[in-house]
Amino acid sequence: MTASKHAVVIVGYGGMGSYHAKLIQGHPKLEVTGTFDLLEGRREASREDGYPAYDSYEAVLQDAAVEVILIATPNDVHKELAVQAFQAGKHVICEKPVTLSVEDFHIMVTAAKEAGRTLMVHQNRRWDEDFRVVTQMYRENTIGELFRIESRVHGANGIPGDWRHLEEFGGGMLLDWGVHLLDQLLYMIDSRILRLSSRLSFILGNGVDDGFEAMLEFENGISAVVEVGTTNFITLPRWYVKGTEGTGVIEDWSLQGRTVTRNPDMAHVEPKPIQAGVGLTKTMAPPSEEATITGTLPEAFHMPCSFFDNFAEVIEGKAEPIVKNEEVLRVLHLIDAIFQAARTGETLKDFDLYPAAPT
Ligand code: NAD
Repeated sequence: MTASKHAVVIVGYGGMGSYHAKLIQGHPKLEVTGTFDLLEGRREASREDGYPAYDSYEAVLQDAAVEVILIATPNDVHKELAVQAFQAGKHVICEKPVTLSVEDFHIMVTAAKEAGRTLMVHQNRRWDEDFRVVTQMYRENTIGELFRIESRVHGANGIPGDWRHLEEFGGGMLLDWGVHLLDQLLYMIDSRILRLSSRLSFILGNGVDDGFEAMLEFENGISAVVEVGTTNFITLPRWYVKGTEGTGVIEDWSLQGRTVTRNPDMAHVEPKPIQAGVGLTKTMAPPSEEATITGTLPEAFHMPCSFFDNFAEVIEGKAEPIVKNEEVLRVLHLIDAIFQAARTGETLKDFDLYPAAPT
C-alpha cells in the first residue's frame, strides 16, 4: 500500500462490494487493501481481482493497518458489522439502507461517536446527473417555481437476487431503490412534509414489496410522487416536473429530455379546438407553437467533490460530510412513515422528520 493512502477493507464482496473496489481503484487517498466475505467463492473472486481476502471478520478488525471498513453486505447485518468496526477503532462507509430501523441507526451513530470515528452512508445517487439537473431546476427556477415533482424508476425484472426477496434481510424495493429516491427528494427540498400517503405493491407474491408509491406534500407548496416498480414493461419517465412557467421531463439516466416553457414574448394565444376521441376539446389541445419554447435540460447542479474525495477529507478532519447522519436519519423516519401509511391506509399529517432521539 502507498504510505499516504488510507487502507480500506471491503466487507461483502458481492455485486456492490466488487463495484466499490473498481470505484476506489486509483483514488489518490484511499486504497482497497483487502476484502472479507462469508463465502469462499467470493473470497476467491476477490483474490482473482487482486485483493487479498481475510479469513474472518475478526482478522480484519484486528489488523491495525486497516483504517476504513466499507460494508457492502445484505442490509440486516450492517449494524452489527459497523458497531464492531467502531469498537475496533475503524471508520465506516456503509451501504444503503444504512440499517433497518431508526433505533439501530442510533446505536451505530452512538458507537461511532464513542470511538471518535466517522460513519458515512453511501447515498451515491445524490451525485446522479439526472437528479442534479432537477436540483438545478428547483434551485434556479429554470421553469418557474417547481410545484410538482414526480420521481420514478421502473423495471420489468422483478426483485433481483436472493436476499432482497426476504424481509429478515431487509429486502423489498422501498428499502432498496426507495431509500435512494427519498434521499434525493429530502436532500433537494428543505421543507416540512405536511401530508403523506403511500401504497406498497405485492404483485409478484413475495413477502416484501416489489414496488411502492408515496405521495408527499411539502409546506413550501411542492407535491411529490415517488414511485418504484419492478413489473413495468413500459416505463414512465425518470422525472416529470412542473413549474409555474413550464414543464420538464427527463426520460432516463442518459438524460434524454426537454423542457417546454411559456413564451414570455407572446400574449395569451387562444388554443384551437382539436378532435379528441369522439369529442372535441380546447382545454386539452396542445399549446400553439408560438406560445411555447421547447428547450434543452439545464446544466446539472455542481457537486463540489465525489463521495470518496469527501470521505477521505472527512476522516482527515478537513471537511464536513456531504452525506450527513441527520439526513440519513430523516430518510429512515420517512421510510417508517411510508410503511405505516401503506399498512393503515391513512394519510399521515404533519409528521415529524426529526423526533427526539431515544435517551
Ligand atoms: P450481494 O448479494 O451481491 O453481495 C453481498 C455479499 O455479502 C455476498 O457476497 C455475501 O456472501 C456477503 N455477506 C453476507 N453476509 C456477510 C457477512 N456477515 N460478512 C461478510 N460478508 C457477508 O448484494 P449487493 O447487491 O452487493 O448489496 C450489498 C449492499 O449494497 C446492500 O446493502 C445493498 O442495498 C447495497 N447496494 C447499494 C447500491 C448503491 O448504488 N448504493 C447498489 C447495489 C447494492
